[in-house]
Amino acid sequence: MTVVTRFAPSPTGYLHVGGARTALYSWLYTKNQGGEFVLRIEDTDIERSTQAAIDAILEGMQWLGLEWDKGPYYQTKRFDRYKELIEQLLAEGKAYKCFMPAEELDAIREAQKERGEKPRYPGTWRDRTDHPEGQPFVIRFRNPLEGTVVIKDHIRGTIEIQNEELDDLIIQRSDGTPTYNFCVVVDDWDMGVSHVVRGEDHINNTPRQINILEALGAPVPEYAHVSMILGDDGKKLSKRHGAVSVMQYRDDGYLPEAVLNYLVRLGWSHGDQEIFSKEEMIELFNLDAISPSASAFNTEKLIWLNQHYMKTMPAEEVAKHLVWHFEQLGVDTANGPSLESVIAIQADRVKTLKEMAEISQYFYKEYDSFDEKAAKKHLRPVAKDPLEAVAAKLASLEQWSAEAIHEAINKTAEELEVGMGKVGMPLRVAVTGSGNSPSLDVTLNLLNKEQIAQRIDKALKFIADRENS
Ligand code: GLU
Repeated sequence: MTVVTRFAPSPTGYLHVGGARTALYSWLYTKNQGGEFVLRIEDTDIERSTQAAIDAILEGMQWLGLEWDKGPYYQTKRFDRYKELIEQLLAEGKAYKCFMPAEELDAIREAQKERGEKPRYPGTWRDRTDHPEGQPFVIRFRNPLEGTVVIKDHIRGTIEIQNEELDDLIIQRSDGTPTYNFCVVVDDWDMGVSHVVRGEDHINNTPRQINILEALGAPVPEYAHVSMILGDDGKKLSKRHGAVSVMQYRDDGYLPEAVLNYLVRLGWSHGDQEIFSKEEMIELFNLDAISPSASAFNTEKLIWLNQHYMKTMPAEEVAKHLVWHFEQLGVDTANGPSLESVIAIQADRVKTLKEMAEISQYFYKEYDSFDEKAAKKHLRPVAKDPLEAVAAKLASLEQWSAEAIHEAINKTAEELEVGMGKVGMPLRVAVTGSGNSPSLDVTLNLLNKEQIAQRIDKALKFIADRENS
């Protein structure tokens, strides 16, 4: 049997963290089994589905690297197929027309609720043949009255539901459109889905879907209902907790590798291992090790993973993402040090790529103004001599290397008989605009002599202006 899984988002919003994790689990299982991964857009809710949401979902999947083997399929393009099968079920007596007006059903349900019963359709039109001419109707599935539906869930174990608890589901609305549960069933069948991995919010649909599959003579897939993700306060994850859209994580400066690693551990484990490369996840993943309990979001851990990947991934890979952040800042990195060299000296100083781009702008463009506090503290008249002296030393260096730069700074301090900080701090503020940077020798080494001379000049002018004002 070929394993086929699917991710079936409804395009009513962005790809959120929960959806992405479901997609990842589905994808990992397929890859682990050498099967196929189907992407299906469940856009039958025409009012709420938007092209922008479809684009956002596809973008999120691509950013995470969850490439699909088949699709994207769109349910709105398959209405003829659904219709054909509804007709078939009608002809076989496995579905029937129900002419009950909505108000009547509402009244029945109200009465049931008042009696403390579960509201359900009482099967009024199940066996009636006195169909009124020209009246609107819905089509209902003739659910078995007896027996038990057994779900063997990979995460939750065996779940049994009595058929008498299920009423006759509407499969076609009065406007002729098929309903959600019916489309899912037909698609899962037509697309050869062998394993349904989805959120536990769908667990109530599963027995109904199994009954419809059986009525159609379709094989029943295996199921894995994944639990919810909670915020770090134990409440249902929502915008209050920060980013919930996957693309927001890109915008905030996370690497897709970190997000994937984070998501896989949010409900799945392999011993106490925390770090998983994509290859390892594929190799080790299995549905049965997914936890049935809800998982709580933990931003600190995501940051920790992001730092890990920024430091350990090949710098040229990290650079592909970092350049995007520079672009967002309007900083052109074509001229200046290689992004790899910036990553090498900044990776262990930041939490995110966004932060890395923000604090590394001085490598690619002149900073607009000095950081006020740093300038106030370090660009004072006493800094004039050290700055001039170090400028001269740096200008006369024959070889431009971190060692030579280090020497030049050292020598300047020695000759002026001052501590290193008296030279280093003004120089740092002059060159980077702020009091914070990696060590000066490696920082300066990524810039060229002219840039450094210019920036020291600028700092000297600042000091002069300050003296005169
Ligand atoms: N379209 C459903 C959703 O976005 C998923 C349905 C399914 O996986 O069966 O929640």
